[in-house]
Amino acid sequence: MSDSISVAQGREYLAIPGPSVIPDKVLQAMHRASPNIYEGELSDMTAGMIPELKRVARTRHNAAIYICNGHGAWEAALANVIVPGDKVLVPATGRFGHGWGEVASALGAQVDLLEFGKSSPMNMDRISTELRADTAHAIKAVLAVHVDTSSSVRNDIAALRSVLDDAGHPALLMADCIASLGCDRFEMDSWGVDVMVTASQKGLMVPPGLGFVFFNDKAAARHAALPVVSRYWDWEPRANPQEFYQYFGGTAPTHHLFGLRAALDMIHGEGIDHVWARHERLAGAIWAACDAWGQDNGPLRMNIADPAHRSHAVTALRLETGQGTALREWLAQNMGLTLGIGLGMAAPDDPARHGFFRLGHMGHVNGQMILGLLGSLETGMTALGIRHGRGAIDAAATIIAGR
Ligand SMILES: *Cc1c(COP(=O)(O)O)cnc(C)c1O
Repeated sequence: MSDSISVAQGREYLAIPGPSVIPDKVLQAMHRASPNIYEGELSDMTAGMIPELKRVARTRHNAAIYICNGHGAWEAALANVIVPGDKVLVPATGRFGHGWGEVASALGAQVDLLEFGKSSPMNMDRISTELRADTAHAIKAVLAVHVDTSSSVRNDIAALRSVLDDAGHPALLMADCIASLGCDRFEMDSWGVDVMVTASQKGLMVPPGLGFVFFNDKAAARHAALPVVSRYWDWEPRANPQEFYQYFGGTAPTHHLFGLRAALDMIHGEGIDHVWARHERLAGAIWAACDAWGQDNGPLRMNIADPAHRSHAVTALRLETGQGTALREWLAQNMGLTLGIGLGMAAPDDPARHGFFRLGHMGHVNGQMILGLLGSLETGMTALGIRHGRGAIDAAATIIAGR
């Protein structure tokens, strides 16, 4: 049908929901000789970054840093507030909700799972009923994923706080902001979140390898009341170090810290409100294009139907069986563009999984990148004969232009 000259040579674009695109400034900051880990620049720089991290998290409370990925941050947070036998409530809206629950379960917690499916946000009434039924207050924590990266749903964490308060339930509210921090608005203190976990490789624009746990005084009191806490995961010496090595429980992640320093400069230079507004604008352009492609019997659908419940960091999509994988492969081979696989939407041996894919649009992304992403998607659908409605790029351009 067509001549196929690959136009993939050039700068590649990894548009998966983490790791995200690393800014040149971050890469350049990391490209240097090892610093002294005992005194000088590195320890001063680290101390100075703690308040700036808290500004991104919108908290005035405590921050602990770990050398780990998001799974490690999950375990770190739980190890400070949960002991075997404790009950935790897990309202799951995708694969990552289940994942955090599995980590809690492996630490000996009794997991009370509330399943909300793969394309809906949490139902606050069901959570309320569950909490009110727990009159003995056996539930010690609610593990809530803000943006579930598998489904791309965004949950209303402030509403969840109200549900806890209205039920008079003392459980800790713990939020996973691994996908959302620095992308979707999140307000730890004003939304009443007790513990928040995140990681370096998404909205923070640094390679994978740093996990962060933020916690308030209520969570600190719970920690203080535990009979034992794992030495390595203990957040107390990391948040209040007497010696520099205690920030990291050993050798500092030197180069990640230089990268993080540069990333925080970028975030605060732009301003966190503007960072959120940029992600919202670009997400709106993606949704407008997807709506247009879905017209005229085009099979493309966004996984989350209601825009009010969609993340601004990641978009989960579906085509017909086989088309999602075919499109990803075509774009990687022909355009130098890598999209995310579908995650948790179908079993690994179910051919239906090849209909799903995801776009990461978190962190270091701008208008020309998103228009390039959308133009490439349209090119791929054209090349593969995947039916799609017209006018997607027009619609996206109109949103980006603010018209
Ligand atoms: C990416 C992600 C994780 C897991 O992080 P890893 O670094 O892969 O361990 C957990 N939760 C959410 C919401 C994520 O987006």
